[in-house]
Amino acid sequence: MKVPFVSFVPMHKEIENEVLTKFKKVYENNWFIQGDEVDKFENEFAKFCDAKYCVGCATGLDALYLILRGYDIGYGDEVIVPSNTYIATALAVSYTGANPVFVEPYIDTYNINPELIEKAITKNTKAIIAVHLYGQAADMDKINSIAKRHNLKVIEDSAQSHGTLYKGRKTGSLGDAAGFSFYPGKNLGALGDAGAVVTSDEKLASKIRAIANYGSDRKYHHIYKGINSRLDEVQASFLRIKLRNLEKWNENRRLTASKYMEKINNSKLVKPAVGNNTNHVWHIFAVRTEERDEFQKYLKENEIGTVIHYPVPMHMQDAYKDLPYNAGDLPIAEKISKEVISLPMWYGMTDDEINYVIEKINSWK
Ligand SMILES: *Cc1c(COP(=O)(O)O)cnc(C)c1O
Repeated sequence: MKVPFVSFVPMHKEIENEVLTKFKKVYENNWFIQGDEVDKFENEFAKFCDAKYCVGCATGLDALYLILRGYDIGYGDEVIVPSNTYIATALAVSYTGANPVFVEPYIDTYNINPELIEKAITKNTKAIIAVHLYGQAADMDKINSIAKRHNLKVIEDSAQSHGTLYKGRKTGSLGDAAGFSFYPGKNLGALGDAGAVVTSDEKLASKIRAIANYGSDRKYHHIYKGINSRLDEVQASFLRIKLRNLEKWNENRRLTASKYMEKINNSKLVKPAVGNNTNHVWHIFAVRTEERDEFQKYLKENEIGTVIHYPVPMHMQDAYKDLPYNAGDLPIAEKISKEVISLPMWYGMTDDEINYVIEKINSWK
């Protein structure tokens, strides 16, 4: 049996007719950037996140960058970022001219350890980016209270946490503002690149809307040196249809995860741990093993797809040679990068597929 790491087939089959009918409408409408579909999606997604405003943009990276720009973060500033995240979190900071300062995660939940944040704060620190890695929420109460004490902004990187609940509240509503990605593989994915900022800060939302649209609040009048990062009608119309199914699709991932959790029992693997105050939308189901490369090779031989999220921590990337970090400085991130491996996880996996993955994993020696 072949089990790919990800498949869109069951998801896309379910909505195919609705999507194609909608695309015809958008096509005939002859309005392609920031129209009615974008408006509606923004309202629906803000509501979904229990927040007041949503501003669509081109990517998740842009969403984070736009939030930082909206708070005037730039040269000379520092922003706290987890040491184990996708590089976009750090790049958003670098694009503004500010520097990312890496803080280590917990080894069990893989989310940033708030106890270590305070030590990393300097007089230049302006914000903390909390990443809800793999689909469970970071420890937001602790992060918010540290931020409050030091007068810092809290930005959620919600690229992997569409629909996650923290103490009953949605990610996207837990800090000052949140960046979402709708990269195709995310739990809510477009048919290409797309992203959004979610916030209940009205001033920030309107400033970001302007920055993302060449810095203009009226056509040909530019109040900021903005960028072009806009959501388009085709993507918004597709995202609206998918959003209506998201809770159901997340629930299906949860069911798959619970089967993995219950039945995977190979003692060479560490299964994921879910924090106390959060649920999980299982964007990624990551396990750890000291023999990761052998494990990946074994699964490949058995036609089971896996991906490493992520093999090289940011401070060891060539792109960040300029930052004052060396190998060994962030041992938890380094350990995770050597041991972590993500198992197949997508909406509509069959019991046969799930059981095959479990069986093969349990018989790995
Ligand atoms: C995917 C992702 C991003 C970036 O999103 P893009 O839409 O690809 O720009 C940012 N942060 C995290 C944690 C991600 O997983």
